[in-house]
Amino acid sequence: MTGVVLVTGAGRGIGAGIARLAGKRGYKVGVNYSRSAADANKVAADIERSGGKAITIKGDVGEEKDVVAMFEAMDKTFGPVTALVNNAGILGTPTSTTKLGADLVANVLRVNVTGTLMCAREAIRRMSPPTGKGGVIVNIGSIAARTGGMAGCVTYAASKGGVDSLTLGLAKEFGGLNIRVNCIRPGLIESDIHDAASGGIEASRKAAKATVPLGGRMGTPEEIANMALWLLSNEASYVTGAIYDVSAGR
Ligand code: NAP
Repeated sequence: MTGVVLVTGAGRGIGAGIARLAGKRGYKVGVNYSRSAADANKVAADIERSGGKAITIKGDVGEEKDVVAMFEAMDKTFGPVTALVNNAGILGTPTSTTKLGADLVANVLRVNVTGTLMCAREAIRRMSPPTGKGGVIVNIGSIAARTGGMAGCVTYAASKGGVDSLTLGLAKEFGGLNIRVNCIRPGLIESDIHDAASGGIEASRKAAKATVPLGGRMGTPEEIANMALWLLSNEASYVTGAIYDVSAGR
């Protein structure tokens, strides 16, 4: 089923990979960004060049009024969303728990958990009767939910545990309305998020060499996008409340 999809945090990294592939597969794509306007414009232009349709939508997923406006922008241009990819996420500055401040915790939860839930709420309202006929949500979690995260990233790991839980709960709550909700938990994927981690991307590449059974390498955004597009498609028609590790055995 192709349709209208909003991909949050789609200017860069994994979100950009998902948005580009969704465009190629025939979706009308909302490319959300919060700060990276130039990157989002480039993703939308790439989609249009490959024959697809895309708009860019500025908005912070952690701000309720921004989320409402993002979905209204989709309504206006493409009609109500039939699919949502909750991809936007932040790591937070790696910090020992002995030095952790409540503001850092609140901000990571605001973006990764509140943002995911508010976007889900807006999508589900549109996918539900009387006007909606169902839909699909893919949440991007992390294997940090089961590993506890990289050094200094306990808050991030906890936030992604929340993404697992809300995936299960939403799948149960809305299965009766033909709304499927699943979660992808990436392992180490090449993206800017590693700039914020201790040691940067090189440390993550080293960690991949030492700990990733399949190939000893980091994955690509496209390797996550392939899974996301499968979950969005009718090929996954009997799949909901599922959590998939795409982590090459890590
Ligand atoms: P990234 O390159 O740092 O991209 C993060 C994206 O999220 C950016 O497009 C950013 O947009 C957006 N974003 C951040 N805060 C936002 C906000 N408040 N509102 C809207 N958008 C916001 O990281 P990535 O690796 O692609 O991460 C994508 C998702 O995958 C995240 O949920 C992350 O936790 C998850 N993940 C990544 C890895 C990995 O190894 N890369 C592993 C497991 C899970 P702006 O630049 O416009 O702010």
